[in-house]
Amino acid sequence: MSKYYPELGLTREKLLKKVKSQMSKKRYEHVLAVEEQAIKLAKIHGVDEYKAGLAGLLHDYAKELPTEDFKRLIIEYELDRDLLSWGNNVLHGMVGIYKIQEDIGLKDEEILHAIKVHTVGCPEMSDLDKVVYVADYIEPHRDFPGVNKARKLAKEDLDEAVAYETRGTVKHLIDREIKIYPQTLETYNYYIDYLK
Ligand code: GDP
Ligand code: FE
Ligand code: FE
Repeated sequence: MSKYYPELGLTREKLLKKVKSQMSKKRYEHVLAVEEQAIKLAKIHGVDEYKAGLAGLLHDYAKELPTEDFKRLIIEYELDRDLLSWGNNVLHGMVGIYKIQEDIGLKDEEILHAIKVHTVGCPEMSDLDKVVYVADYIEPHRDFPGVNKARKLAKEDLDEAVAYETRGTVKHLIDREIKIYPQTLETYNYYIDYLK
């Protein structure tokens, strides 16, 4: 029997079909890996495994949404107009949660918040936020210098793992001369002291 998501009124089969329809095969494999990784981290750190898994599965739901759709969501939901000047790397979490609510009916505020901040983070993240943020960075397909250190920290200490990841992201963006969303820097400033 397929797993059932009571608050969505959907079987796992139906939910997976919806997720799959929104993205490439490669990204679909990534979200399944983030789901599994988030559940593992939730177990280690005493976080709700169901919420971690569902957030992991849905975190990149809007990653391939056309720019026009993000524009519509920003205007329709009266979000900060400044978001209009950012690309979908920044928007797929921050604005993507509105698309997820429309398409899937997800209402759980804790899960929605974890998805909202999964790219840029925020100061004072909940443990669920941290689990999803970090799981996205270290899932088994990820391969970049520093990923093994990130994997080690993820098992030991969520705050250190968040700090290490944010440092890596900021470095990566600076090296490539990519604009940094101010909230990414707020996350950096808040967590960087956790790095030993
Ligand atoms: P993914 O969706 O699984 O690829 O992972 P993320 O949602 O964490 O990140 C998506 C992309 O956004 C990555 O290429 C990050 O480097 C990039 N990103 C993260 N923070 C920022 C930011 O502040 N500004 C910009 N422009 N890009 C960012
Ligand atoms: Fe993402
Ligand atoms: Fe992702």
